[in-house]
Amino acid sequence: MQLIDSHIHLDTYSEEQRRIILNLPEVDYYIAVSMDLASCKTNHQLALHDPRVKPAYGFHPEQELPKQEEIDALFRWMEQHVDTMVAVGEVGLPYYKRQENPGLEVQGYIELLEKFILFAKKHNKPIVLHAVYEDGAIACDLLEKHGVTKAHFHWFKGEDVLIKRMIDNGYSISITPDICYEKEIQHLASLYPLDRIMLETDGPWPFEGPFRNRMTNPLMIRDSMYKLAKIKGIETEKVWEKTFRHSILFYGLYNGES
Ligand SMILES: [Zn+2]
Repeated sequence: MQLIDSHIHLDTYSEEQRRIILNLPEVDYYIAVSMDLASCKTNHQLALHDPRVKPAYGFHPEQELPKQEEIDALFRWMEQHVDTMVAVGEVGLPYYKRQENPGLEVQGYIELLEKFILFAKKHNKPIVLHAVYEDGAIACDLLEKHGVTKAHFHWFKGEDVLIKRMIDNGYSISITPDICYEKEIQHLASLYPLDRIMLETDGPWPFEGPFRNRMTNPLMIRDSMYKLAKIKGIETEKVWEKTFRHSILFYGLYNGES
């Protein structure tokens, strides 16, 4: 069972850790999401050296909003490198930052997200979203406004009404290894159609439960598959087949260059 990690921060691992991860023969593709312009450039380089690395370019929302000239520079660079990217991402809204700082002004983040959505639409690229709980509804509003449906809500968490809206809109989600021990994620997985689910690690983000004190790596996706199969009441092979196929189709991974 070959694996696709549909969301990983390859550039933020140490060089030694990254070498281990890129040497896993079990992994066919890594969707390498970016944090900011410097991170985009690193992922671009990693992809040049290893064709299994498929970069997504964007700005991670859980950090201070960039200055206008930084935003302009990022979009200019993305326009110049649009042929090398499989998606726009990671982009979204600063949910966790707002928990720590409830006064945080969110309007600028919403405007930046809309700019990324318009870029994705213009270039017909998928978009990788970090938008959880009530932020998910804001992201849905923007996607609906612009008629964008190729949306991947990575490590999504939220209420049933929002989950239903995302399913109705045809959006995809991805599940991290925390499905093995988080009730909330197990519930989400039980509701979401299997042919709209991908698997990811969000590595190097560390996990708890059986993964405590282990370096997050794509082989953990196997544990997620076993758990997802149990939740869906089907064989692991079927979960592998559907999630693998969906990642390939969603990111257009067999389109020539690979
Ligand atoms: Zn991420």
